[in-house]
Amino acid sequence: MIDEIAAIRLGVFLTILALMMGLESLFPARRLAKNPQTANMATRWLGNFGLLIIASVMARLLLPLGLAGFAVYTSQMQWGLLPAIDLPLWANIGISILLLDMLIYWQHRLFHRIPLLWRLHKVHHADRHVDSSTALRFHPLEIIISIGIKALAIVVIGVPAEAVVLFEILLNGFAIFNHANIRLPLRIEKAARYLLVTQALHRIHHSQIMAESNTNFGFSIIWWDRLFSTYARAASKADDKINIGLSDYPDVKQNAWLTGLLWLPFTGKK
Ligand SMILES: [Zn+2]
Repeated sequence: MIDEIAAIRLGVFLTILALMMGLESLFPARRLAKNPQTANMATRWLGNFGLLIIASVMARLLLPLGLAGFAVYTSQMQWGLLPAIDLPLWANIGISILLLDMLIYWQHRLFHRIPLLWRLHKVHHADRHVDSSTALRFHPLEIIISIGIKALAIVVIGVPAEAVVLFEILLNGFAIFNHANIRLPLRIEKAARYLLVTQALHRIHHSQIMAESNTNFGFSIIWWDRLFSTYARAASKADDKINIGLSDYPDVKQNAWLTGLLWLPFTGKK
């Protein structure tokens, strides 16, 4: 069962990734900047996909059956709030996905706010370009901390395993979607902003200007940003002119090479 779930997750992941990479190569919203601070595509992808592989292997070693396997166990033990209030399964799944999504929003805010966590999350933001591969670019230690936070939430809320699987597929899919280097047609963009974090909204979050990167923290639905007052509908520059990345890391050996990315949290003042 766990193997089948893993196969479905991988299948959905590869499908969405292929679709978004196809779209961004056909209709790129922004061109890759040509300057000494920005690595070429091949170097960026090597670093970004390299981090994904290392983080996935580490997550596997830490939790061989994944968070879904963990939730199967906690459900059997009837741990958490939801098993105690006895709602139908579909309601438990809906409530769990909403709560987990809100949790990830707050986790993301914490990773920006707390200096030690920001050291790790900077690896994601140091990318000088945003595309589908940026969605995969997280320091392995950030992935491990995030798994720990989600595991804790699963126990406390009493998340059913079905919700964990669905949530992970959704979170992963939406992250690739909103990092893709594409721009939705204006009418769709306008409508989508009532529900989703669009690519244009997420690019504001990747601005070098701190006040802009401290907005639009959501990964899938935009409601949390609207509810907790971190929603920004435009940056100071037009979407195709926003300076993306972190100005503290102008060296491609630090902002793109795999070795530099792994080492980045342990360098610099903060
Ligand atoms: Zn961020």
